[in-house]
Amino acid sequence: MQMTTAVGKSLSSVANVAWRGVRALDRVLPDKSFQPKWAPAPLMKSTERTFPTLGFPRETDSLCPGCVKEVRESIIAGKESWRVLIDGNPGEIKARIIERDNQVLMVKDCDKHGRYEDLMAVDANFLRRMEQLYPGRDFRIVPDDIHDHGTSTIKYGRGAVLTVDLTNRCNMMCDPCFMDANQVGYVHELTWPDIKQILDNAISVKPKRQMSVQFSGGEPTISPYFLQAVAYAREVGYDSVQSATNGIRFAQDLEFAKQAKTAGLRLAYLQFDGIGNEVNEHRGVGNLFDVKQRAIDNLSAAGVDVTLVTTIVNGVNNHQVGPIVRFMIANLSKINAVAFQPVSFTGRDEDVDTETRQRQRYTLSHLARDLGEQLDGKLEPMRDFFPLSASGPFSDLKDLLAGPNTDWGSMKCGCHPNCGIGTMLLINENTKEWVPIPSLINVDRLLEDVKAINDAARGKKATAAQLGLALMRNFRWENAPKSLKFSSFFKALDGHLGRRMGVADKARYEWRIIMVAGMWFQDLFNYDFRRTEMCIIPYGTQVGEVSFCAYNTGVGWRQIVENMHQTANTVEWFKTEGRHPIYAGGKSVPLPVLREKGAAVTVNRLPALLG
Ligand code: SF4
Repeated sequence: MQMTTAVGKSLSSVANVAWRGVRALDRVLPDKSFQPKWAPAPLMKSTERTFPTLGFPRETDSLCPGCVKEVRESIIAGKESWRVLIDGNPGEIKARIIERDNQVLMVKDCDKHGRYEDLMAVDANFLRRMEQLYPGRDFRIVPDDIHDHGTSTIKYGRGAVLTVDLTNRCNMMCDPCFMDANQVGYVHELTWPDIKQILDNAISVKPKRQMSVQFSGGEPTISPYFLQAVAYAREVGYDSVQSATNGIRFAQDLEFAKQAKTAGLRLAYLQFDGIGNEVNEHRGVGNLFDVKQRAIDNLSAAGVDVTLVTTIVNGVNNHQVGPIVRFMIANLSKINAVAFQPVSFTGRDEDVDTETRQRQRYTLSHLARDLGEQLDGKLEPMRDFFPLSASGPFSDLKDLLAGPNTDWGSMKCGCHPNCGIGTMLLINENTKEWVPIPSLINVDRLLEDVKAINDAARGKKATAAQLGLALMRNFRWENAPKSLKFSSFFKALDGHLGRRMGVADKARYEWRIIMVAGMWFQDLFNYDFRRTEMCIIPYGTQVGEVSFCAYNTGVGWRQIVENMHQTANTVEWFKTEGRHPIYAGGKSVPLPVLREKGAAVTVNRLPALLG
């Protein structure tokens, strides 16, 4: 750091004294709470927030994997009305979350199908810490017609990623696959009026929220409405429009990537299992890593950011988590985040046998441990990882800085602490030097400070000044890279938070803040209704907004909704629409030959960077 540690520590001491003075003033000056246009009530104080029951042992509401399948089959066969999902509690049983030998387990008994036991954490202390850091729930959603799904209804918060499946068709045949794409015997594809309705509905929700809108599938780029849907999502006001994708279309067609950018695509959520074609072989495509590299190059050339999304299966690709983070660092100008998704046994994998499930189960605590080990100990699980919801006070800060006359609430990841974790890295884009931000800042105390700033609810300048004091007093000068100035860090942070403090004049600087996240989608073996009721990934569907986990696993909303609204059976579809290419059985995806001159820049090739 370009200031000696001793001088920095003195500044921190001064900031500490000033901080105490500001807090003393808060006690005598009344706060200025306000209700923004987008919110159903005044901005919440930390003491007004509610909490689900946390800690272990505890009891929760779950599902019996055996009963759920029976109910779902009976609805699909037309023997029972789908309304039972709303009016009844099909398949629901109690579950206990317990600690045993420093592990956390979910244990549940069904009178008919017997006992189910599954692992929730390999390190009880890690999960305990994640739960203790949960800052409390967001607003309750004002009841409306699109949140009416019985016990699966999302009740709290504002969502963070609205997911819309444009089609169940795909050009691959992966295992794992959430939705059993290409295998269900029918096509379910949203029409243009369906898509428009879903997006129009989403902006009617109170709290009105700024979310990422993510088009998904199947492979969403196969939908004839993909570009139109991206453009409409931007038109109704969403800042961040994304596409979950296997990358094939973007790899094959640079022009398509450019069209997507012009339509408003900000980010591709790229399925990415690891470095090298071998690690990707289980998806049945011979040259899948080459496809990913070309997709990253083309998307970057078109100006679309890429987030790498990796489904982690224990014993299959968990040795890749460190190399994937290194790959991201090496290609920072093209990649803006990494999202790891521990396997969820659903879709094609719902009938997994117990031995395979136990062997392949991967939890967020595995992820934190593996990242620590594979990145040479630079990441420390107990210091560097936080529940995704710990970012809530920063979203609240953005809402406070935006003032009362804003139409949209900020994006907020207010999910249950068992759902997601993350850490932030500060990376120098030029030198690739990096540090975990919690090694630079006492984040535990900073989060408490930000809550205090939000509770005080002062004006923009006073709020920015208080944040400056909080950062200064919590800064760990002894761990800062020599080339980092405190002001550069403050600017990088403001850029990352959307420049609301007026400190940064652009979104990105040489030092960038990058997220490494883990989102653990549920399956029937670890299902917890306390999680779905505060879900941040609502699925926009023809029956309203359903929690991602309730839709894809849970009682099986997806199969039921897609059956009810199917476009055609596959035979009819092939007759009228023809077949689209499917890459499977080890087949390679044909990629255009790159001309030497004018070719897209190629991503930094590993293994040199794998370390
Ligand atoms: S309920 Fe599922 S989809 Fe929703 S936030 Fe939790 S893990 Fe994510």
